[in-house]
Amino acid sequence: MKILICNDDGYQAPGIVALYEALKDMADVEVVAPEHNNSAKSNALTLHSPLYVHRAANGFRYVNGTPADCVHIALTGLLDYRPDLLVSGINNGANMGDDTVYSGTVAAAMEAYLFGVPAIAFSQLLKGWQHLDAAARTARELVQQIISQHAADAPPWLLNVNIPNLPYAELKPMKVCRLGRRHAAEKVITQVNPRGDTMYWIGNAGPVKDDSEGTDFHATAQGHVSMTPLKVDLSDHDKLPYWAQTAARMAAHKASREASDKAGA
Ligand code: MN
Repeated sequence: MKILICNDDGYQAPGIVALYEALKDMADVEVVAPEHNNSAKSNALTLHSPLYVHRAANGFRYVNGTPADCVHIALTGLLDYRPDLLVSGINNGANMGDDTVYSGTVAAAMEAYLFGVPAIAFSQLLKGWQHLDAAARTARELVQQIISQHAADAPPWLLNVNIPNLPYAELKPMKVCRLGRRHAAEKVITQVNPRGDTMYWIGNAGPVKDDSEGTDFHATAQGHVSMTPLKVDLSDHDKLPYWAQTAARMAAHKASREASDKAGA
């Protein structure tokens, strides 16, 4: 069993160190992670500047790029083997609902999934690393279960796991959930710098719109660990017929224009 670990908070973050320590005796485990904090970088790849890989004193490799860069180069040439599993995190803060679209933690896992490697993203609900030991133990237990049921041999899958910042004994059992929803983000924050220029700071995430039963927001608020299987399919299947009608109308207009142009010529 070969496990590749990545994150978006950077290779020195307490979350990735705890994750490595929790998994290192279960498999061959390697870390390839961003040099700096890349939270909210989503699936971005660096195309217009070179990437460098360095090895830290503890053996972790770090890259001057994004989480997706790290996994991408690991899987396309840096590693001389194919990992059986990619584990991302443990992130400093929740990645639930619409936040998953922006998350670098989820993106690292998604990049592996797109290459056919099963992947899990782990996040702690609150920032600050409180009860990180309990989150690392939860991650270990899930990976252990995946190994024992040979789940990594199945067609690739992608899991998003969020863990409340509670002592291990107070964590409630894992619940399989759909993603909740948020309202649009709050207003941008403006300030004036000492030279008189206006600075814009991205505002906070919007308030929760759907935290009803069955969502990750609901389960974690009750103290459960939430687990959401994700897939990558951006097609809006319900809207296909509506837009097919629009395309058909445009084709009919074009045909009748061409017919009248011909008649006029
Ligand atoms: Mn992060």
